[in-house]
Amino acid sequence: MELGLHDLTGFDGRCDAIYFASIDEGQTVEPPPNVSEPLADWRREVLGLTEAPIARTGYDLVVVGGGYAGMGAAISAARMGCKVALIQDRPVLGGNGSSEVRVWAMGNIRRGRYPHLGEIIEEFADKATKSPGRAEEFGDEQKEAIVRAEKNIDLFLNHHAFACENENGKLISVQTFDTRTSQHSEFFGKLFCDCTGHETVGILAEADWEMEPKDRMGMSNMWTWAEVDQVTDFPKTPWALELQMADFPYPRDHHGQWFWESGFNKNAVADAEGIRDHNLRAVYGAFNAMKNNDGAEKHRNAVLTWVAFIGGPRESRRLLGDVILSQEDVITKREFDDGCVPSTWSIDLHYPKKQYAEKFPDNPFISIAIHDRRIDREYGYPVPYRCFYSRNVDNLFMAGRNIGVTHQALGTTRVMKTCGMMGEVVGRAANICVKHACQPRDVYETHIEELIELLKLPGTTRHKSVGGSDTVDANAVSAIKTHDASSGKLEYSSQSK
Ligand SMILES: Cc1cc2nc3c(=O)[nH]c(=O)nc-3n(C[C@H](O)[C@H](O)[C@H](O)COP(=O)(O)OP(=O)(O)OC[C@H]3O[C@@H](n4cnc5c(N)ncnc54)[C@H](O)[C@@H]3O)c2cc1C
Repeated sequence: MELGLHDLTGFDGRCDAIYFASIDEGQTVEPPPNVSEPLADWRREVLGLTEAPIARTGYDLVVVGGGYAGMGAAISAARMGCKVALIQDRPVLGGNGSSEVRVWAMGNIRRGRYPHLGEIIEEFADKATKSPGRAEEFGDEQKEAIVRAEKNIDLFLNHHAFACENENGKLISVQTFDTRTSQHSEFFGKLFCDCTGHETVGILAEADWEMEPKDRMGMSNMWTWAEVDQVTDFPKTPWALELQMADFPYPRDHHGQWFWESGFNKNAVADAEGIRDHNLRAVYGAFNAMKNNDGAEKHRNAVLTWVAFIGGPRESRRLLGDVILSQEDVITKREFDDGCVPSTWSIDLHYPKKQYAEKFPDNPFISIAIHDRRIDREYGYPVPYRCFYSRNVDNLFMAGRNIGVTHQALGTTRVMKTCGMMGEVVGRAANICVKHACQPRDVYETHIEELIELLKLPGTTRHKSVGGSDTVDANAVSAIKTHDASSGKLEYSSQSK
């Protein structure tokens, strides 16, 4: 057997496919075509894939992206009687909150105008003790089990959305490929929700969008290390950044935290792989400094225990809704009649930390967070519903970090429990769209009272069908926080409705 590998090199190398062919001595094997279309045909043939994508039909809502926002949207819509496809391009759910990236979920829930919002998120949110913590703390299996328990959700893990069909300002379908088999599928739905964080579906559907032209927040790859009983070696890393101990903050408590962040002025989508590689070169360069350079004496027993191989993105493109929320709106507590999701995080924006930026001015890899704390952390600023649908693609919702906000407002809305609650609202709005055969904008313009009623329901409420009545899990007793407008105080109450 001869193994034909060409150019399988590169830092933390990745390759799309390896073709094994068995040949007898003296024989040669025809290499795969090296031109895209014949190569695609060849792949289909050898992998036994269908020529046309598999049509997946009958969905009320197609949710793309299985982070907190996507899970919130899918579960909420399913419980409201909608038939949902949840498409996620990783083998696990949770996005940045999965064991692959290990960011702990922040943002206060169950408060403000609709204090039941957040109850769905609470069912699957991590209780991690550190960020990054241990893999188990992020509960990948629990997240998947909760989604699979919803009979109205078809979950498609390892499915990457890459194309879509639109007609007259409406999305008709989204196409995916299976990252393990390369099989293409086409998902048809009445409504779609972009929860990719990068707004991939919106871009493909020609939705209006924007991206901060420069000085965006970057992408992080967190890491952990430990000390063992014996002296250990670590190979020199000539391909990593050449670092000494003064070039990075000491990874205290055995972990490299959120501020191992780069890509501030790189394209967060097109250069995503390059940003990740730069982060990895920084992490390995730092550990090389600890083991082989001026940190060696103090780290003889140190071992590198985990490095996130998936980059954790913070900011990329944002879809434009009928409302584009600004910092000014949040700080001045501008009233919107459709304000709903309580945003309690400060306006937290990241910049390269000057102290460490000098050696690598082109792409600094350590950040600092600047907080504008003029946020009501208890009650929360109610983010309007109109930030959660596209202003020009009629049947497109969005939830998560790609909603209709400015760069500054993203500083408060982007934490995961807040993103998850946006999904919960989208799920409820989807029920109204299906029931009245209308679009997300009509929910605000014509059916806002109905949305308000749905937002008051506990997270465990289920509708047998879209038009059906409520049934609430009788055991669902939630300690919720309500806001007493007269005293301005928060009160806890037990509710079982
Ligand atoms: C290092 C770091 C630290 C942070 N600190 C905190 C913190 O302490 N607490 C907190 O709450 N937030 C924190 N954040 C912010 C928070 O993680 C993000 O804003 C949040 O994850 C956004 O949620 P989301 O669901 O919109 O997107 P994501 O979590 O990014 O999830 C989107 C999902 O969609 C999938 N996807 C993307 N494209 C496609 C496609 N084409 N097809 C199919 N699937 C696709 C992705 O794989 C991903 O799983 C931090 C972020 C980082 C990177």
